[in-house]
Amino acid sequence: MSFFKKLTDLFSGSGGVDRDACWITARCNRCGEVVRTRVSLSNDLSVEYDGDEVSYFCRKVMMGEGRCFQRIEVELTFDANRRLVNREISGGQFVDEQGKVFAD
Ligand SMILES: [Zn+2]
Repeated sequence: MSFFKKLTDLFSGSGGVDRDACWITARCNRCGEVVRTRVSLSNDLSVEYDGDEVSYFCRKVMMGEGRCFQRIEVELTFDANRRLVNREISGGQFVDEQGKVFAD
């Protein structure tokens, strides 16, 4: 698997069938539950203008299915081509599909 393929998988989820989706996987800081949520690139993004620059923004609140009520808040920024360029998280950590914390 190439580096770029890995990057694509990381941001879009594996498979590549659902091109409209950006999957976010995070682990709750409190109970350790891994939660996934789907961000629709056509429905969930709000456009922001900075002069001629267009970017997209999305805020998601994720909650596990367990008894923990910790809210994991995710803020995503996309460029004009709807590629993920920045992400912030509070209440949890970004993890990969296997639940491992990203090195960055
Ligand atoms: Zn939790």
